[in-house]
Amino acid sequence: MFKGFDGLPAPEKMEVLRRAVPSISAVSQSVSPPAPRPAPAAKRPPALRGAIDSVKGVGYKFSSILAKKNIHTVMDALFHFPLRYEDRREIKGVSSAVADSWQTVSGRVESAGRTRPGPGAQFRVVLTEGGSALDLVWFHFDERYMRERYKKGKLVIVSGDIGVDFRRGSLQILHPAPDRIEVLDKEDEARGSIHIDRIVPVYSLTGGLGQRRLRTIMKNVSDSSSLLDGIMPGDCAEGLVPLPEAVGEMHFPEKTDNCPDFSRAAWDAGGKDRTLPAPKTVAFFEFFIHRLAMEMKKRERRDGGGISFKPEDKHYRRFFDGLPFSLTDSQSDALSFIKERMESPLPMNALLQGDVGSGKTVIALLAIMKALDSGYQAALMAPTQILAEQHARFISERTQGAGLKTVVLKGGDSGADFESAANGEADIVVGTHALIYDRVKFKRLGFVVVDEQHKFGVAQRDRLVDKGRSPDILVMTATPIPRSLAMTVYGDLEVVTVRGLPEGRKEVKTVILGSSPPDRRRMIKAMKTEIDAGRRCYVVCPLIDPEGGGGEDGSEGVAGVFDTASALRKDLSGARVAVLHGKMPAQEKDSVMLDFQNGGTDVLVSTTVVEVGIDVPDATVAVIENADRFGLSQIHQLRGRVGRGEHKSLCILLKSPGISEEGLRRLEVLSKNPDGFSIAETDLEMRGPGEFLGTKQSGAAKFHFADLVMDTAVLTQAQASAKEILKSDPELEKHPALKKLSLEILRGLPDEGRDYPSTSKDSGSSTSSLRRTRN
Ligand code: ADP
Ligand code: MG
Repeated sequence: MFKGFDGLPAPEKMEVLRRAVPSISAVSQSVSPPAPRPAPAAKRPPALRGAIDSVKGVGYKFSSILAKKNIHTVMDALFHFPLRYEDRREIKGVSSAVADSWQTVSGRVESAGRTRPGPGAQFRVVLTEGGSALDLVWFHFDERYMRERYKKGKLVIVSGDIGVDFRRGSLQILHPAPDRIEVLDKEDEARGSIHIDRIVPVYSLTGGLGQRRLRTIMKNVSDSSSLLDGIMPGDCAEGLVPLPEAVGEMHFPEKTDNCPDFSRAAWDAGGKDRTLPAPKTVAFFEFFIHRLAMEMKKRERRDGGGISFKPEDKHYRRFFDGLPFSLTDSQSDALSFIKERMESPLPMNALLQGDVGSGKTVIALLAIMKALDSGYQAALMAPTQILAEQHARFISERTQGAGLKTVVLKGGDSGADFESAANGEADIVVGTHALIYDRVKFKRLGFVVVDEQHKFGVAQRDRLVDKGRSPDILVMTATPIPRSLAMTVYGDLEVVTVRGLPEGRKEVKTVILGSSPPDRRRMIKAMKTEIDAGRRCYVVCPLIDPEGGGGEDGSEGVAGVFDTASALRKDLSGARVAVLHGKMPAQEKDSVMLDFQNGGTDVLVSTTVVEVGIDVPDATVAVIENADRFGLSQIHQLRGRVGRGEHKSLCILLKSPGISEEGLRRLEVLSKNPDGFSIAETDLEMRGPGEFLGTKQSGAAKFHFADLVMDTAVLTQAQASAKEILKSDPELEKHPALKKLSLEILRGLPDEGRDYPSTSKDSGSSTSSLRRTRN
């Protein structure tokens, strides 16, 4: 259009320009949407990833309160779903309240005030309706606030255990929970109110923001759910509704005849509410976008290029030839897989999973040797100092005279070891979280191993990885993740499994005992027999000291290490009993552990610091006090401390007095089942994914609403859809909104590493790597 433009006379230039303008504007429209008009009011129009204070009713004060709930953007708020719902389409008045039941009732404030002056007073609110009365009673209160809140004539809706005050002859609720009580204003009672005459959402509260106010804010939030328009492709899966509609419905249900109950308890009781279109759509969307984000991450790493390690050489061969055993077939297979991936130019990102005692460490160490043979440094991160020391010791023993330098980094160390990591003198650097401190630098980090990876967060792993240039990564876990979860939690990892245990291992016999004298005698006898044969016992207690641990959480009757140790010293006269717990200084811990390993101690009474990884082949008895207080997979880990050598081993699970039937059933699962994978399945089923994965690990797949157990069917659907969409549109070019959001979610993956010192510069590990991607 502009060919030869400069040479044209002025009128013709004008004509060209006149013709060009519509084309230019058409092109610019198609590239970017028209610029938004400046908002007439001070408030910016809400944008999906815009700050929460763009929502009506949210100013500086409330936005800082919401921030405590991790709500920073409109999107965060849209996915902050109610804790539960209350059916207020027909609220019962206090006249229908019945003693000794849990009920929701309403009434008007008749009177409110303290019962008498001075200390020991109560604050009492009398609610009336239909000639009946109900008292709300508090022992701790802020009188001014209460007087202000419970003005005569206000309508109160309250749920609680209704009891009887026999002196007054009236019904009462003692200390109604703050989130179970709501005081309405006059205007709330008008038609169309969001607080009454409908199914009402109840949100979890944070100090300073009452239920009514929060609900009003959430109404405004949900009114902007149309911001989610056009993100999720319409033809994703069957049985879904448009996302904006689903989100709106989750906040303020309109389309259901029943008051929904999405809780785990309801689900366990056979509840079908979670399969309604709205919750199903929301869960689907969360899984779907998470899966896409994981997929992007995988590609990003792949596109960054990796190291092509050379074929193994002297370090590897030396180490291999020095092993006192030969690898099992399964170990060899896993190792070949890893070696092959290391040699490929794509970065390796593998998860090595295998049951406790399956011999993962040796595979990792051989892989490390291969990395060293190619001239790189390797890092090995373990969750506890004890385990880090154990690895380092093993490596040093096995590499003696090979001219390799192994260092263990500790938090409070002098600079020497840090220095040797940074200048490349250290070949293998072992440590705990200390490895991710900012001050830790590597000269040529090419291989990263994370042992017991379920004890770490994804962000921690990434932070260590970022200390090298696209190093290969091998993470290991003995808490196998059921297949249904693996994709979601470990979506960016390739899973390699070591099956079975090295030959000659005998199954650990597992028995459940109580605290009766005959049971105690049985246990002591078993321990004595082993000790006399020169073997060792672990005794694991839930607490260090029940006194100091504070009895508030029901820790009465729970074993502490000190009491348990002194009782055992008495019963096992002559045995050498030592104590180990997490609050001991690191050096002391190391020496106790070393002493136990070397046979200087017969019985090690400890907290769960021995839970992961510790390897003492001569230990043959594991006693677990109050076993019902631990998770199944955790007990399986603890049990895995024995049965690591050629001797027959025994695990004694001591049940707490008054153990529930359910608790006993769980323990029986363990005594009947030696297989960590199937124990994990049961554990997951019984406890739910949050507890099962632990806070750290579940951070890898944290959803607002979607639940890895309750929504398994949806999960499968979402994964299939994600795969499909990427197949037809690998770069998500045809789904720009989806691409943008999944990248943002990837960037926002939780960063549990925050408690470690870091500069703002390197804390955004995934952000910086994102900049490398083409957008
Ligand atoms: P985990 O997989 O739980 O980390 P480890 O790597 O600590 O298990 O191995 C458990 C024990 O088995 C160690 O003492 C280790 O030396 C030993 N081991 C590993 N592989 C074999 C094998 N192929 N044959 C015999 N013992 C082995
Ligand atoms: Mg291990």
